[in-house]
Amino acid sequence: MLDPIRIRNDFPIFRRMIDGKEIIYLDNAATTQKPYQVVEAIKDYYENFNSNVHRGIYRLSEESTDMYERARKNISEFIGSRDPRSLVFVRNTTEALNLVASSLGKSLASGDEILLTEMEHHSNIVPWQFLKDKGVKVQFARINENGTLSIEDFKSKINQKTKIVSVTHVSNVLGTINDVKELGKIAHENGSLYVVDGAQSVPHMPIDVTDIDCDFFAFSGHKMLGPMGIGGLYGKIDLLENMPPYMGGGDMISSVTKEGATWNSVPHKFEAGTPNVADAVGLSAAVDYLRKIGMDEIRKHEMDLILYALQEEHYIEGLRSFGPKSIHIRAGVYSFNIGDIPAFNLEKEMEQSGVKISRDAIHPHDVASLINGEGISIRSGHHCAMPLMDKLNVQATARASFYLYNTREEVDKFFIGLNDAIMRFRQ
Ligand code: PMP
Repeated sequence: MLDPIRIRNDFPIFRRMIDGKEIIYLDNAATTQKPYQVVEAIKDYYENFNSNVHRGIYRLSEESTDMYERARKNISEFIGSRDPRSLVFVRNTTEALNLVASSLGKSLASGDEILLTEMEHHSNIVPWQFLKDKGVKVQFARINENGTLSIEDFKSKINQKTKIVSVTHVSNVLGTINDVKELGKIAHENGSLYVVDGAQSVPHMPIDVTDIDCDFFAFSGHKMLGPMGIGGLYGKIDLLENMPPYMGGGDMISSVTKEGATWNSVPHKFEAGTPNVADAVGLSAAVDYLRKIGMDEIRKHEMDLILYALQEEHYIEGLRSFGPKSIHIRAGVYSFNIGDIPAFNLEKEMEQSGVKISRDAIHPHDVASLINGEGISIRSGHHCAMPLMDKLNVQATARASFYLYNTREEVDKFFIGLNDAIMRFRQ
């Protein structure tokens, strides 16, 4: 069984007190804290190995290149890839998805369709919307009342025009875990390419891209104990080899003449310019750390925390939480509102037609700000998922999200803090 108290000792930030209070960090869906093992790996790289990769024929450059490529191998194995060449280093999930959309988009034509879901993060919506200029249509599979994806609607929206299906593995608002293997089968039977946004899954559960059989898989290092500014795009080798590059520059070419250029082999074709070697090394250290604790253990721990939160929520008057209630299809993301926070357009409509809006509601920004006073960090807003907010008929939600260093005691403190905040607000 994972021991969050012992794990916390590895995280220097938890030694810090804010206004005399210990930090209760419940914003892990936004970014995670870093253990000293990761901080040390980055420091060690800059102190002992720093030099540019793939170019120098001197000791430091050879060592640096070796560290960078070993990091690639380690991280690609962590997500279940059988070949390190399938992992392109990028800055984050956003860049990974932009790369795929931009590169695959070049071969799309007017009338082609992309199928997404209503629970996507903006980074899995906007890059596809860029293709609208070419006449490409972006479709959204509906979600059910309980926050799960409607498979019937998904199936009804996939057709011969659907060239790409791109879905999130885990919703950063609802915590819903999509059956990405099943969705991939449907996509492939239809002849569509299949992309998975793994930003909220890789950090929290065992991932095997080979078993999922996705064509592309995107993730961010900073959400899995690694540094900011490094992430990964997994792609099947034959697909990557046949795709046009995303950015041009040094390292991604094989040769350049005044007339044109030929491309380097995969994955270098997609890594133009000096890469983020230190943070690749840092992310590799994060992967070692997670592997040592065990991804199954992390998933079990988070299931326990979300189960506990779903039990405790009943004590809070006026609380409405979002997402599936079954912990088997639910990650450690807990979005909620206190009272009704209707969407802006609905609020106006309701007022105009004389429907009374409950003024007992507390805006999620106020909720987050009030419990910040207790040393508790949660997020509020639209969570970069505005189409989902529309679907839920809310302007915004508050969100607590858990990780391996959070405890049941912290969940208790969160609900006690929330209750106190509500009392103070209504006084
Ligand atoms: N997809 C999902 C589901 C996310 O939760 C996030 C981050 N909130 C992203 C994509 C984008 O990640 P990044 O900002 O690291 O690019």
